[in-house]
Amino acid sequence: MSQEHSPNADEEAYFQKLAEEQKAKLRATLESEQAEEDSRKLREMHWMHCAKCGNEMATVNYRGVAIERCFNCGGVYLDDGELEKLAGEDRSGVLKTIGSLFRSKTDSETT
Ligand SMILES: [Zn+2]
Repeated sequence: MSQEHSPNADEEAYFQKLAEEQKAKLRATLESEQAEEDSRKLREMHWMHCAKCGNEMATVNYRGVAIERCFNCGGVYLDDGELEKLAGEDRSGVLKTIGSLFRSKTDSETT
């Protein structure tokens, strides 16, 4: 019996490689779908719930801005830009100073 490399073996290897590539693609798709599903579940679970006590929050109008308030612990949640809206014009630069405290080091190292 010879140990010759038959064309059939090449073909088999080709199809096996193809099948593995398709499996990897399918796995990647399933993983990304799972990540999306996990993210959706997390959002659903935490949506309009207080970050501190976990009770439901309600939207209330405060000085013309719709903010979320927890009636259990009194916590308040502000959406992006709402703090600036409530504070009005930042004449003293206090908000900028506070904002810079929450930025990462690389963002504030502009000098
Ligand atoms: Zn609360």
